[in-house]
Amino acid sequence: MLSYYVVLRSVLRLKPWLRKCLARCRHCGIFFLTHVRNAGRQDLGCPFGCRQAHRQSQSTRRSVAYYREPEGKEKKRQLNAQRRKTPAPPPAPPPPVQPTPLRWPRTILDYVRVVVGLIEGRRVLLSEVVEMLQRTLRQHRMVRTRRIDQSVAWLHAQPP
Ligand SMILES: [Zn+2]
Repeated sequence: MLSYYVVLRSVLRLKPWLRKCLARCRHCGIFFLTHVRNAGRQDLGCPFGCRQAHRQSQSTRRSVAYYREPEGKEKKRQLNAQRRKTPAPPPAPPPPVQPTPLRWPRTILDYVRVVVGLIEGRRVLLSEVVEMLQRTLRQHRMVRTRRIDQSVAWLHAQPP
């Protein structure tokens, strides 16, 4: 999560006009960027699970309400009758395991993809995001190594 805020902060520093797209999840309080058409809304859910969870519970509520209506009751009766006639299909095989595990959770990658798409006004591929994050990570590591090298050199030059 810390790395997520690092990404978010550097995005905002680079593109200050995106501040108006900054929103806060009303479920878990996390900050995230949203589409400019949602700017200023207070009722948004974050893309890291809350929005989905909320949508799911909403659709459950909707379908519960639907099956209470007479029309829905009839539909349900038909569905049940059909279910009795046709045996249940065998369970779907589990999805294939991804050959190369991603270093970052898929939700974060999708999120960065959307943010970069907003910034650049185009569709961004997931592979581009992974490549971008890997590049950033490599640069971070290089800077850190250089800094350590410098302090070691400095210690050699002036021993305590
Ligand atoms: Zn949330």
